[in-house]
Amino acid sequence: MKTFRFVALAVLAPFFSACASGEDSVDLLLLGGSVYDGSGADPVIADVAVAGDRIWYVGDAAAAGITAADTVDVRGLTVTPGFIDMHSHAELDSDHGRDARAFLYQGVTSVVLGVDGGGGSGVAERLARWADDGIGVNALLFVGHNAARRAAIGMEDRPPTAEELDAMRAFVRKGMEEGAYGLSSGLFYLPGNYAETQEVIELNRVAAEYEGAIYDTHDRDLGASYPSFGYLNSIAEGIRIGEEAGTKVIFSHFNAQGAHNYGRAPEGAALIEEARARGVEVAGAHHSYTATQSNLRSYTIPSWVVAGGDSAMIRRFDHPDTLALIDRQTREMLAIRGGADHILLVDERLDLNGKTLADVAAEWGLTAPEAARRILRTGNASVMNLGLYDEENTRYLAGVDWMMTCTDGQDPGPTRPVTHPRAFGSFTKKLKDLVIDEQLITLPYSVRSMTGLAADFLGWTDRGYLRVGMAADIAVLDMARVQDMATYEDAHQYSEGTVHVLVNGVFAIRDGSATGEMPGRPILRGGAAFPRTLLAGEPAG
Ligand SMILES: [Zn+2]
Repeated sequence: MKTFRFVALAVLAPFFSACASGEDSVDLLLLGGSVYDGSGADPVIADVAVAGDRIWYVGDAAAAGITAADTVDVRGLTVTPGFIDMHSHAELDSDHGRDARAFLYQGVTSVVLGVDGGGGSGVAERLARWADDGIGVNALLFVGHNAARRAAIGMEDRPPTAEELDAMRAFVRKGMEEGAYGLSSGLFYLPGNYAETQEVIELNRVAAEYEGAIYDTHDRDLGASYPSFGYLNSIAEGIRIGEEAGTKVIFSHFNAQGAHNYGRAPEGAALIEEARARGVEVAGAHHSYTATQSNLRSYTIPSWVVAGGDSAMIRRFDHPDTLALIDRQTREMLAIRGGADHILLVDERLDLNGKTLADVAAEWGLTAPEAARRILRTGNASVMNLGLYDEENTRYLAGVDWMMTCTDGQDPGPTRPVTHPRAFGSFTKKLKDLVIDEQLITLPYSVRSMTGLAADFLGWTDRGYLRVGMAADIAVLDMARVQDMATYEDAHQYSEGTVHVLVNGVFAIRDGSATGEMPGRPILRGGAAFPRTLLAGEPAG
């Protein structure tokens, strides 16, 4: 058995002496697991001791004379840092989803929210609400370009005036002042799509005034945009924005969309490799599902039709001149996406949920573009696009050493029987498919992509590794049983093989069952927990 040397960080010493009653009694001992520290290093067989919300010791606890109030035998199991979901839509603001159970069952202990350009500027308010109400996982926020643009100029398809740009800058600055990690954009979506590159650079410059700021990009064109901006152009744009503004860049749910891009992941990855070689801190995050989830309007209606908002869109539906053009362009958009039978409605409207756009069109005796417009008249709809990603691309991307992991997922609860399984299985699917079954990547490498790599990118110094002094976010997995259970037909299935999950030293899952605890904390830029008083080491709650 390898014994780690105990290194008490000076800053944590008062905390440790306060927490351990006597020299050698801690709260919890996980005995004899196969411990992966999150760095990509091979595992060691070791005991892990937890005191309060911190990892107190890793090594041979008996030899070190450490005992605990609670001892759990984890021999034969895999012990890792809790996983970090680098692009998430976990529903922490709603009653259903606040406990993040779908994520915890994958071993996820931290989620990144406010992505795709959607994060508001009221960061402190949202963090405070989470701290008050309790959340199941740790969470952090980005401030969003789309939200800033919408607040300043609505859905108009034009550049901002100088005053409007200043208002957008102030929006971003407020978010950053309150602890956001950086700027997120959704240039594929509206109104972000109406922005020129320079506008995003200007806003990113505001974020760059804060140390460690990140630009999180949902690309303008992942491969299936209409009209095409170009998958490679889009990656180049994301790199340029970060490089000129001085922020790190992360490509969210990075992959190449559409049959015309199957096998082309290495080309996009090469652009990122080139940027990294010249010193730009660029990385990505991915999951291994082949379907996307977004909204029907984005997938079937060109952005010019929506300029001015939904009522303007409906006026254009109703005008014979514009209607003919819209109809033709919707057909072209559907063709890029594999056809109306690849667009699966996962909306709350139960008469639509689980049907493809082709099904609905047939039921209504309409063409697919007609059916799409009819749905959109009463509101945008959530949809999946089946088969948009290529498994070969995904396998390639799993092997690049700057690729983190994300769910991009939302557990909408019982209101949507059919939804994307990624909220329930992204991390466990990657482990099951790529590590266990295909042995395409090793377990240490995969764990690093889910933990240490992400923690380093986020600028965390006390979370994301399984080491002494770090926050006790820990997943204990039975690799013989790890498996995603959620399917496209029946998504609401928790992953299996996650035996124990600790968040800040508290069991969120124990012996395979959720405990109902809410041990998650909002995490400010830089890694401190919110509110800052928790930093002093007082036990939470
Ligand atoms: Zn996205």
